[in-house]
Amino acid sequence: MIERGVRRREWLGQRVWLALALCCVFAAAVQAYRISERLGAERMRVEANHRLELLAAAVDSIILRLEHIPGTLELNPDLRAWLLAPGDPVLAARVQAFLHALNDQVGARLIYLLDADGRLLAAAGRDTSAAAPGEDLSFRSYFRWARGGLTGRDFSVGEAGEDAGYFVSRPIRDGEEVVGVVAVKIDLGVLQQALEALEEPALIADSNGVVIMSAVSGWRYSALEPMSALAHATARASRLYDDEEIVPFVVPLPLRTGSPPKEATLPALVLTADGAGRLDAARYRVVLKLLERTGWRVVLFSNLRSLRAEAFSHAALVFSAGTVLLMALAYLLQRRRIVRQKLATQALLAEANRVLETTVERRTRSLRETNERLQREVAERKAAEAELRTAQDELVHAARLAALGQLATGITHELSQPLGALSTLNDNAAEYLRRGATDKAARNLELVAEMVGRMDGIITPLRDFARKSPAQPGEVRLSEAVDAALRLVDHRLQKQGVEVVARVPATARVWCDRGRLEQVLVNLFGNAADAMEGCPTRRLTIEIEGVADWPDAIVVSDTGRGLAEGVRARLFEPFFSTKPRGVGLGLGLAISRDIVHEFGGTLSARNGEGGGASFRIGLPPHKEDKA
Ligand code: ADP
Repeated sequence: MIERGVRRREWLGQRVWLALALCCVFAAAVQAYRISERLGAERMRVEANHRLELLAAAVDSIILRLEHIPGTLELNPDLRAWLLAPGDPVLAARVQAFLHALNDQVGARLIYLLDADGRLLAAAGRDTSAAAPGEDLSFRSYFRWARGGLTGRDFSVGEAGEDAGYFVSRPIRDGEEVVGVVAVKIDLGVLQQALEALEEPALIADSNGVVIMSAVSGWRYSALEPMSALAHATARASRLYDDEEIVPFVVPLPLRTGSPPKEATLPALVLTADGAGRLDAARYRVVLKLLERTGWRVVLFSNLRSLRAEAFSHAALVFSAGTVLLMALAYLLQRRRIVRQKLATQALLAEANRVLETTVERRTRSLRETNERLQREVAERKAAEAELRTAQDELVHAARLAALGQLATGITHELSQPLGALSTLNDNAAEYLRRGATDKAARNLELVAEMVGRMDGIITPLRDFARKSPAQPGEVRLSEAVDAALRLVDHRLQKQGVEVVARVPATARVWCDRGRLEQVLVNLFGNAADAMEGCPTRRLTIEIEGVADWPDAIVVSDTGRGLAEGVRARLFEPFFSTKPRGVGLGLGLAISRDIVHEFGGTLSARNGEGGGASFRIGLPPHKEDKA
């Protein structure tokens, strides 16, 4: 829960930092926009001024080149002579030839010679058809200025159908009197072409402030500033602009005719767009130059849109670069965080490993100690078991000897008879040998051997029974074990007149130690004989349960007094006996049960249905069955 809170705070912190960084990048982009715009504006101003200077220089050079022509012609005596004698054909021809030659030489558009009344006397140039000789041009401003004795300098549209041009005129005097006027028209077509070649709109206005040249045709003959009534009247009288209507310029430019600045950078203007040669909707910076010689003004408009686009692209570049830088920084920070986390995880893992190793080592040590203790205990237990086994063996043997002791009387009795017979046969044999009746002696000795054999038959089982040997389980023929046990108690059973019914198939086998099984059977048979003492019916039954080959149990039943309730409960308790002291030790059944348990069987007792007791030795399953 706490970890999630910390992670959330971290996440929020990261977002705040990211937002701040983005703001910084944005601010940098805005700053880049401003700087780029300022630098661009400065560059644009320099470029515009440069273009303006070039244009002004072009205007000046075009006019300068030709404006001295009228002054030069003023000095020509032929012109004055012809003006004084206009009817002289020789002079006329000479003057006309001279004017044509001069015009060809200097490349002026037109050279006019007017008389004092303003009538055209001669014209030389490419457009001689513009005005015919004799035509009255006294209304022209340049004529009037020259007629007044001054130099005329005027832009004028010219004669009908003629292109506009710049006229420079000078008076031709005879002494003090002005006898004629000579004028040269300077072609401004080159300037118009130059204006049209410019990328940005530009214009040239004359000394009246009227636009006389512009790439935007709609601007021509519009006044940058309102014309005075006098200027208007003069222009109309001298047909400066032919019959053109002078309209105000598309936007008011704050220019003063009186004291115009040589160069002015005007505030940006928004020029509205329409189809009549106006500028499209964009912000323009305007620069202006006043040409002192002619009083003309050259105006250049610079579109700020490209400037802004450039500034915007610079800003975008800065923003992109900033964002990329930010992303790289974020990536590096993230990477550093991951590396730090990884290191922390590794440290944690190493610590966990160390703790685990310590724990494992501790546990291993404790396990080793426990194991050693267990091994010690196992060894002690094994030793105790061995001791116990030895003690049990001793006990079993003692019990066996006790049983033998009980059988001793009967056995002695059994041996006494053949011993007596042996003695008699021995005496007889000695007598027969003395008499020389060797045949009979031999016969008696044969009988002696027979008797000895019988005695051996009585003693051998006793010897076997008494032998102290550790338990060695093996396959035992049950009938043989039963017979051996019966033989040991045979004397007692016969003496008590007990009927023995043994229903044990010859094939029946048991997996146990034969000596110990016999000991159990002897004990059971002995107890049965004791129980049947004085009973009218005395029958000992030995039978099996289960299959003939490997029976499940051996059942020993008698027809004795049976098991009283108190006796049955304590039957297998060591030292429990109902027999008189010295007769029973009370160990027989307890040891028998231990023996049977040892070879994997059970020993139980119950009262028989027809009276008497019944002892059941449950046998372990055949070892092949176990597998
Ligand atoms: P002991 O024979 O020395 O008394 P056991 O352990 O062999 O010791 O027997 C314990 C007692 O069980 C006997 O004293 C006897 O009272 C009783 N008992 C054993 N076998 C029989 C039997 N077949 N019928 C009746 N009682 C029996």
